[in-house]
Amino acid sequence: MASLNQIRSTFLDFFAADGHEKVQSAPLVPQNDPTLLFVNAGMVPFKDYFTGAATPPYRRAASSQKCVRAGGKHNDLDNVGYTARHHTFFEMLGNFSFGDYFKEHAIERAWALVTKEFGLDPDRLMVTVYIDDDEAFDIWKKVAGFPDHKIVRIAGSDNFWAMGDSGPCGPCTEIFWDHGEHIPGGPPGSPNEDGDRFVEIWNNVFMQFEKENDEIVRSLPRPSVDTGMGLERIAAVLQGVHSNYDVDLFKALIAASEDATSTKAEGDRAPSHRVIADHLRSSSFLIADGVTPSNEGRGYVLRRIMRRAMRHAHLLGASDPLMHRLVPALVTEMGEAYPELKRAQAFIEDTLKQEEIRFRTTLGRGMGLLEDATRDLPQGGIITGQTAFTLYDTYGFPLDLTQDEARRRGFNVDVDGFETAMAEQRERGKANWKGSGQSANAGEWLALRDRLGPTVFTGYEAVDDTGEV
Ligand code: ATP
Ligand code: MG
Ligand code: MG
Ligand code: MG
Repeated sequence: MASLNQIRSTFLDFFAADGHEKVQSAPLVPQNDPTLLFVNAGMVPFKDYFTGAATPPYRRAASSQKCVRAGGKHNDLDNVGYTARHHTFFEMLGNFSFGDYFKEHAIERAWALVTKEFGLDPDRLMVTVYIDDDEAFDIWKKVAGFPDHKIVRIAGSDNFWAMGDSGPCGPCTEIFWDHGEHIPGGPPGSPNEDGDRFVEIWNNVFMQFEKENDEIVRSLPRPSVDTGMGLERIAAVLQGVHSNYDVDLFKALIAASEDATSTKAEGDRAPSHRVIADHLRSSSFLIADGVTPSNEGRGYVLRRIMRRAMRHAHLLGASDPLMHRLVPALVTEMGEAYPELKRAQAFIEDTLKQEEIRFRTTLGRGMGLLEDATRDLPQGGIITGQTAFTLYDTYGFPLDLTQDEARRRGFNVDVDGFETAMAEQRERGKANWKGSGQSANAGEWLALRDRLGPTVFTGYEAVDDTGEV
């Protein structure tokens, strides 16, 4: 059985043999795009090659790019632990043509990789194309010999990619794997497609047109290809398991988390172990790339991820800081492919430990408050904005953490009420400032910064981000 590390190599070697330059993953913090929170797709580091702003030193490239989708347009944070296929951190395998080959070669190579190199059963594969992309439709018919119903035409934005309001854009074709009838979910394009039965494994984007002010104005003289395949998803398929969390790498991380908590990843506890394993990866890789927990911007996203993991450690009954003890298992699994993990290991462990010590001073009491506030609530009931605010302000619970805990218990949170409480706090802060002629106290500043952090970083809200392949 091929391991995740072997699958990564197979992919890169396959495309290297086809004239692609193997390119190292870029750091998670975008080097060329201040509007983007984190690199969230394989194409991000190559953006300037696609727009023509820079000249690529090669016409074809292949990479396994570190991606984080935990904020902005692509926010998979709430899916983690609940779907079989989403992570906050994952690796996106990609092959890229910068004005070199186009649809025919891309589809032909994709099909050869999945069915010959990986040996997947064509009967369990199906594809989508953009609604009017007859060219891609015909190529699939020829290359895969699919009947019409296995090449689904999709009209929505899932199958039409654009870098933004201006810049390259074009239709996509996506490859899906059918994990089997026993799993709920329908084929792509059907009303119940958002299940975990037909899992999207690979997206091929054909950059063919150029947009200006959200309108297609011309065809690109030298169209390009950008593809993205989730390494953990293809590993699940190749290892014959349904969930990404059952691939070799995650089994090892979850085993470490089971050991450290003396609990089994079964029943109610399983999601906690999955979240811990996932968040261990995103936190560690973010820290290795220079992000540190803080109350604003990228640092606050990291803090939110870390604290969510720490809450799950608490749910598993861990009485001491846990996350830093799992780092060695991660380094064993991924340190070879990502030497920065090894280099930063001590720093990652220390950062996780300090944050967990800090959060633990209030975590238990915060959970107690939540317990009290929900004891008499009927299922589906609403936790008041004031409670969410107190949890945030006094106990360091990011709003999304409270929402996630509420969801786990079958409740909702009054977000408007939370915002109102926050605004009132801000007003009080201002009044105090004026009244005393002194600076606002530290608690208020912290709260203010907590609140302002994500909005100071306007990029991912103001810009229709550019990372999606
Ligand atoms: P989905 O519809 O399943 O959320 P997506 O359409 O958002 O996936 P793309 O933006 O097309 O995903 O990214 C390309 C590929 O990256 C996907 O086909 C999938 O294999 C992988 N991928 C995307 N999001 C995740 C994630 N959160 N965790 C793991 N793999 C992912
Ligand atoms: Mg998605
Ligand atoms: Mg999709
Ligand atoms: Mg997609």
